[in-house]
Amino acid sequence: MAKVFIIAEHRDGRLKKSTFELLGASSAAGNETHALLLGEGVAGLAAELGQYGAQKVHVAENAALKFYTAEAYTNVIAEILKGAGPDIVLASHTPTGRDFMPRLAARLNVGLASDCTQLTFEGTQIKARRPVYSGKATAEVEFLGAGPQLATVRANALGIPKPDASKTAEVLTVNAQVGSLKTKVTEVVKGSSGRPDVTEASIVVSGGRSLKNSENFKMIEDMADVLGAAVGASRAAVDAGYRPHRDQVGQTGKVVSPTLYIACGISGAIQHLAGMRTSKTIVAINQDGEAPIFQVADYGIVGDIFAIVPLLTEEFKKVKEH
Ligand SMILES: Cc1cc2nc3c(=O)[nH]c(=O)nc-3n(C[C@H](O)[C@H](O)[C@H](O)COP(=O)(O)OP(=O)(O)OC[C@H]3O[C@@H](n4cnc5c(N)ncnc54)[C@H](O)[C@@H]3O)c2cc1C
Repeated sequence: MAKVFIIAEHRDGRLKKSTFELLGASSAAGNETHALLLGEGVAGLAAELGQYGAQKVHVAENAALKFYTAEAYTNVIAEILKGAGPDIVLASHTPTGRDFMPRLAARLNVGLASDCTQLTFEGTQIKARRPVYSGKATAEVEFLGAGPQLATVRANALGIPKPDASKTAEVLTVNAQVGSLKTKVTEVVKGSSGRPDVTEASIVVSGGRSLKNSENFKMIEDMADVLGAAVGASRAAVDAGYRPHRDQVGQTGKVVSPTLYIACGISGAIQHLAGMRTSKTIVAINQDGEAPIFQVADYGIVGDIFAIVPLLTEEFKKVKEH
């Protein structure tokens, strides 16, 4: 049994699903599972962490933690961990986790396995699996030496457990010392899209260069809205200005691992596959039956997206209505 600390991620007063995945995996393995909750006015979220498997929630509140910064997070987390003696520290491989976990590893002088898609707990040790070479191979990572083992885990990789309303966590209030900071976030300006982010959505509908312009992406958005999905794009579509860069999936965009990925008019270049090949089910629509995307697709439709996407959207609507 390991002593596992999970850094809880939240935004706009809501915990992220990827945090629940980490809690579920740790507690299912019988570990002593702790959650760290940092922010301002966030203590109310502790109960939900308990329902997903946290036995103890360490709540660190401070005005300087209202907006996330890597500096403040690292200072506070390192301080809490110093006295706690964790075996393993986990965070989601989100932009936030990718930002502070390397800094935390350097501060603690320990190793970090990043972007893991599988974790195996063995006593106080973890073995992690992570895609390498743009997802063409998988590396198994073990930790050597003393000190906590740090890992970030790709969203949707472990699966979300069912919450158990009867479970409660012990809540420990931490006197959070952020230390002297060199940076301060004064304002967060939100993007205009009301859709989920591609890295967190359980369904992603993506379009490629074949959409021809940004207006035609409306049919991708329509399908995404029916499915409650995020909209993604290939780099060619982003470079052409059809979609903002935040939607780009791939090696130089975002890495996604949804339950369902629908690629519409995307060729399946290796750099695109690097960002989506770990999706649970891949559906490809392409007029070229030889397109490389079909090599990774579970289901393929050979045909014109301008005919097929609206048809599928109508069918999805009917299924949802019944
Ligand atoms: C260093 C580097 C990093 C890169 N990073 C990324 C990245 O992060 N993400 C990424 O996506 N790419 C990335 N790329 C670019 C990548 O190599 C491809 O150029 C890009 O993915 C192609 O996008 P696409 O599939 O939309 O366009 P295309 O390659 O032009 O393919 C369009 C596809 O649509 C099909 N099609 C056309 N019209 C229709 C229609 N009406 N109906 C159905 N199908 C149709 C065609 O058959 C074709 O397969 C990177 C490249 C480099 C060199």
